[in-house]
Amino acid sequence: MNKTILDRREIRAARTAKPEHNPWQPIGQDWEIERGVHSALRETLTVYLTGAECPFTCLFCDLWQHTLPRKTPVGALPKQLAIALENAATIPENAAIKLYNASNFFDPHAVPIEDFDKLANLCDEFVRITVESHPKFLGERCEAFHEMLFGRLEVALGLETIHPAVFPRLKDGMTLSDFDCGVEWAKSRGIGVRAFVLVGLPWVPAVEFPTWAARSTARAFEAGADRVSLIPLRTDDGILRTMREKNKIEPVTLGHLEDALAASFEVIKSETSGIVEADMWDVEALIVCQHCAADRIERLKHANQKQYLESEVPCHCTTT
Ligand code: SF4
Ligand SMILES: [Zn+2]
Repeated sequence: MNKTILDRREIRAARTAKPEHNPWQPIGQDWEIERGVHSALRETLTVYLTGAECPFTCLFCDLWQHTLPRKTPVGALPKQLAIALENAATIPENAAIKLYNASNFFDPHAVPIEDFDKLANLCDEFVRITVESHPKFLGERCEAFHEMLFGRLEVALGLETIHPAVFPRLKDGMTLSDFDCGVEWAKSRGIGVRAFVLVGLPWVPAVEFPTWAARSTARAFEAGADRVSLIPLRTDDGILRTMREKNKIEPVTLGHLEDALAASFEVIKSETSGIVEADMWDVEALIVCQHCAADRIERLKHANQKQYLESEVPCHCTTT
């Protein structure tokens, strides 16, 4: 295995041009049903916001495509969120919300502190508010936002993998100990933790994708996370796209996501009350066989809600 770690400049140079976004419009929004850690199913609204790009440059991350080439203007995020809530019309009782800004919510360039109050007020109807953050951005700003909220704050931290040879090449500015400390810091303040774990890794054979996802899930729960979202690796741009085109990365399929979820359920069965879920964003990109795709996607959605997988969907593609 090549041990070279690419620097930020090389990773950025391999990207295509950033699409333009209007800072006064959200990128999009989605409703889904999520299982609560200690409770029943919850309607959950994800709002995709745009703002300043993350200062870290993780090799696998494509979130920069949804960001602005400058600091987020004051007032832009409350405006985006207000539009998303208007589009959502009625908010169901006990709903949760994810404010995903394609960066770090507690980076002052990404979310101006002047907007915290307004953002917190707009979230008053939600019982859980999830935001993304690099562990190094947890601190006073996170505590301040937590105190302004009516519902419970949950931070989503990217662990991605514990593969010892891949982790240092994927993750920018983070060690496993940063992740552990971030989880501990949040939990000791009553803030929930969701961890992101990748399904699919560069430099790793596809047959190992589910095992590494399950091992990383186990590690996230050991650290104290409440919930793990399994995220299929996206290889549509930059260095990973070049690697895919040269057949140096095996594409992630629905089957890998199913197997990663099954393996993660096995790992946590006796050890934790945590929740594991397959991230369904852009799941259509993982389809290999059209005959069984719709049923398999439904099966994954059910598994996210029930925390077990129903029987396999029969198809010639999975039985051979
Ligand atoms: S810290 Fe998060 S948002 Fe920033 S580059 Fe890494 S994965 Fe992407
Ligand atoms: Zn099939």
